[in-house]
Amino acid sequence: MMQQPIVIDDRKSDLSKEVLLHSAQDSSLCFQCGKCTAGCPVAFAMDLTPNQIMRMVQLGLIDDVLNSQTIRLCAYCSTCSVRCPRNIAVADVMDSLRIMAAERNIPGTDRSRKVNIFNQAFLDTLNMFGRSHEVLAMLLFNLRSYQPFHNAKLGLKMFNNGKIKLKPDRVKAVNEVKEIFQRINRLRKGA
Ligand code: SF4
Ligand code: SF4
Repeated sequence: MMQQPIVIDDRKSDLSKEVLLHSAQDSSLCFQCGKCTAGCPVAFAMDLTPNQIMRMVQLGLIDDVLNSQTIRLCAYCSTCSVRCPRNIAVADVMDSLRIMAAERNIPGTDRSRKVNIFNQAFLDTLNMFGRSHEVLAMLLFNLRSYQPFHNAKLGLKMFNNGKIKLKPDRVKAVNEVKEIFQRINRLRKGA
């Protein structure tokens, strides 16, 4: 993808400028063709479509954008970026918005909070075993979201059908995976 020149001018909203500085992507180039949304595999579950997010960034609607589920549900698959006729890496815009929401401690809607809790539960099992462990991730998610029996029937059914394992698989290089997490934590703390 061709690198865009970074141009910060007063016609851009403050949000648009901040996104540009974070991601080097100029959302003001978006002309609302909708191709990003048409190709997004997660759009069906989003509260705002990717092209709506782009328009709202142009308009500077920071509260709506940073509180949206969309920026938390985005899987960073980059389908939108590849499809964009204006060469905007929409996935990077989504990522920068997610970072901006985290920097401001904006937890989002109740559903967005649950997405964050789920992501963290998944990452915690990755840190422990070097790979994800569905049962523990679901258990952590249920406990942390105060719904201990959420999807219990489904979990039992999957267990009975041999779809999930109680015992976690641990990768050999688990300490190297832990080191990656430690490095990320150090970076977060600015150490
Ligand atoms: S990167 Fe995010 S917004 Fe773009 S297509 Fe993938 S899930 Fe959708
Ligand atoms: S594909 Fe690109 S130009 Fe089209 S709506 Fe999405 S971001 Fe805007």
